[in-house]
Amino acid sequence: MATLEARETAVLGKVPTDLLIGGTWRPARGGGTLRVEDPATGETIAEVADAQREDALDALSAAAEAQAEWASHPPRERGEILRRVYEMLRDRVEELALLMTLEMGKALPESRAEIAYAGEFFRWFSEEAVRIHGRYMTSATGSGRVLTMRRPVGACVFVTPWNFPAAMGARKIAPAVAAGCTMVVKPAKQTPLSMLALAQILQEAGLPDGVLNVICASKAGEVVEPLLKDPRTRKLSFTGSTEVGRRLIEQSADQVLRVSMELGGNAPFIVFEDANLEEAVEGAMIAKMRNIGEACTAANRFMVAESRAEEFARRLTERIAAQSVGRGTQEGVQVGPLIDGAAREKVQELVQDAVDRGSTVLTGGSALDGPGWFYAPTVLADVPATARVLREEIFGPVAPIATFGSEAEAIEMANATEYGLVAYLYTNDLRRAMRVSEAIEFGMVGLNQGIVSNPAAPFGGVKQSGFGREGGFEGIDEYLETRYVALAL
Ligand code: NAP
Repeated sequence: MATLEARETAVLGKVPTDLLIGGTWRPARGGGTLRVEDPATGETIAEVADAQREDALDALSAAAEAQAEWASHPPRERGEILRRVYEMLRDRVEELALLMTLEMGKALPESRAEIAYAGEFFRWFSEEAVRIHGRYMTSATGSGRVLTMRRPVGACVFVTPWNFPAAMGARKIAPAVAAGCTMVVKPAKQTPLSMLALAQILQEAGLPDGVLNVICASKAGEVVEPLLKDPRTRKLSFTGSTEVGRRLIEQSADQVLRVSMELGGNAPFIVFEDANLEEAVEGAMIAKMRNIGEACTAANRFMVAESRAEEFARRLTERIAAQSVGRGTQEGVQVGPLIDGAAREKVQELVQDAVDRGSTVLTGGSALDGPGWFYAPTVLADVPATARVLREEIFGPVAPIATFGSEAEAIEMANATEYGLVAYLYTNDLRRAMRVSEAIEFGMVGLNQGIVSNPAAPFGGVKQSGFGREGGFEGIDEYLETRYVALAL
């Protein structure tokens, strides 16, 4: 830890590194730990308890035991706990942002934005906790009554990725707490610290023991599968890759678990002839460069009308080439390192494949010298439809540009993917905007804006980007069952 600054060591020193089970922080069975590294330096910054199968089952026991009491807890009190969490995240944004940057790499302003975004889910669902309602109606025959009530689903298992270490958990924990569900959370092994810090805050905010349990593990499959096969688990919510999601859906089939899946994306960013190019480039910078390009919502394919492609590419290249790359804790840095060596290798492979197929590198195009997993912000032009970079999730700061002739061709290109998370459209023609929004197969559309994430809106995808929605009025539905009571009068 020799090169860490004093404020970094101080922040790391405050984070619990044990498992949180039934309100108690405790080491893993056998005392094993897993190392957390700073991707900007490769240095080990912390060691956290490495849960075993039995620890995971203990966590589930704690959640299952707390379930009945938590379900009957007054909604107002559940909401007030969430409200306190929102306030604590707001008050502690600086230390939490630094912690996130240290384990994940993104620049500090982006970590601050993520903490604020995570906090907004706690605020939103603090308000939703008291708005869970059913209905009472006269049946069609007039002879009876239909009564419905919403009940919490029960104990949940949450598995989250490393790219948004706090927000992806917040999007699940906040509605589950609001609905009266208990949970076991397994964060990604590369970024467990933000979740451990968040769990500590929930505890301080007054969340009863056992409602939230957190286990970190070096072998995800070994701790998650037994949870999915255990009849006490009632729901799985997963955010991560489509590949792992598919496997977890299979594992959930035995028990016919309720499942929510927030999976990968391959977002088209379509710039029509009539678009405002300045706004389109501004939006492109956010859609591409936010989170170092390591976002499920990242623009993965720029598709620009032939007549505007050259100018768009020139302007985007100027902006991307000017990005400052470095350790995310440094003042002025905009682009941090990729999460690890494998991620960087994959980005390099995709770029090389595009170049081999005739694409032109307008800026970047290679890894940067270490230590750390830095990759130069890159723009590729004349990318052919066959290039892997247009078909696979890039998860890095690379912007491939392809062109289209007609609106019909743009729609066809946009839909030519197994993913369906988000699409971005830039056009000043209202009718076209609505026509294309209806014709494309995506769960979300950014219309003349490069970001769609909003706690008040239903976030989620179609096709192999998953199912279920996080945020908005829909977000709490994922944690509620509808019970119908037939009434004879
Ligand atoms: P990942 O490899 O699928 O991992 C996600 C989580 O699943 C991690 O906690 C991981 O644990 C765990 N996991 C891996 N293998 C598992 C197994 N066999 N059984 C149970 N759990 C397992 O994804 P990632 O690389 O962390 O995240 C990037 C992916 O997430 C991208 O595809 C991105 O698009 C997607 N994502 C989607 C959304 C959305 O809202 N749609 C949001 C953010 C990210 P370990 O850390 O131990 O591997």
